[in-house]
Amino acid sequence: MSFFAAEEPEFSTFVLGNAPLKKLAGGFDWVEGPVWFGDHDCLLFSDIPNNRILRWSPATGITPFREPSNFSNGNTRDREGRLVTCEHGTRRVTRTEHDGTITVIADRFEGKRLNSPNDVVVASDGAIWFTDPHYGIASDYEGTRAEQELPCNVYRVDALSGEIRAVLTDFHCPNGLAFSPDEKRLYVADTGRMFQDDPRHIRVFDVGVDWALTGGRVFHTISPGCADGMRVDAAGNLWPSAGDGVHCIAPDGRRLGRILVPETVSNICFGGRQGHRLFITATTSLYAVSLAIRGAVRPAR
Ligand code: MG
Repeated sequence: MSFFAAEEPEFSTFVLGNAPLKKLAGGFDWVEGPVWFGDHDCLLFSDIPNNRILRWSPATGITPFREPSNFSNGNTRDREGRLVTCEHGTRRVTRTEHDGTITVIADRFEGKRLNSPNDVVVASDGAIWFTDPHYGIASDYEGTRAEQELPCNVYRVDALSGEIRAVLTDFHCPNGLAFSPDEKRLYVADTGRMFQDDPRHIRVFDVGVDWALTGGRVFHTISPGCADGMRVDAAGNLWPSAGDGVHCIAPDGRRLGRILVPETVSNICFGGRQGHRLFITATTSLYAVSLAIRGAVRPAR
């Protein structure tokens, strides 16, 4: 039985009929934040409850990268290839410099502590955009229980000035986020507080002059489950995580198909030597599948 479930004809042009869904490693508790380092031929990802970042490479399999990781969650790379990490435990976003030292990008807004930065993306101007839901301070499982001081906002940190701005303030719990390949759109998942009637959708914003956001309509409602992390491919399709695997959503909001994964998926990223391997963090395991399309490479603008 195939784990590819096509729902629209276009889906077959993005997947490979005979590519396996491979489980690369398992035994973790809640893996998240995959990021590909092509120059090191490896993937980094967080194992949040175990307070560590792990490294996977085809040559050496799983090895430790950082432990403790301050209950890290989402990871990405900036325009200079440096690792950018969301940390629940320290309630901050950090950058790992090329020499290994750690720079704090953001830990407060208007004098109050951030909640627990969840996922992060770097725009072509170097600005760091991240979501700040409360999940990492809601229990002692994925961080440390603490009082919430700020609403669950989306923030942008300017690359030059370091100024932090709340750019989206009307979310229940913003989670995964991704720009379209031309950076004219920003997609942000809202996963709410995980109650029955909470939002389980992805909203889309138009990105204008000086990165001003307008719009914000519901772009797609995920079923089953909700969207956590997501990435965009070179054709502009959005690949969000979902309760039954990874979904493929066309730029017009139609679901084209699904990759069915045996465990609840938290996040994905494109990588591999050709850039068309989809790495999937799913509860206790790391999976990968090769696709017929690469991840988006966003040009400077
Ligand atoms: Mg997330």
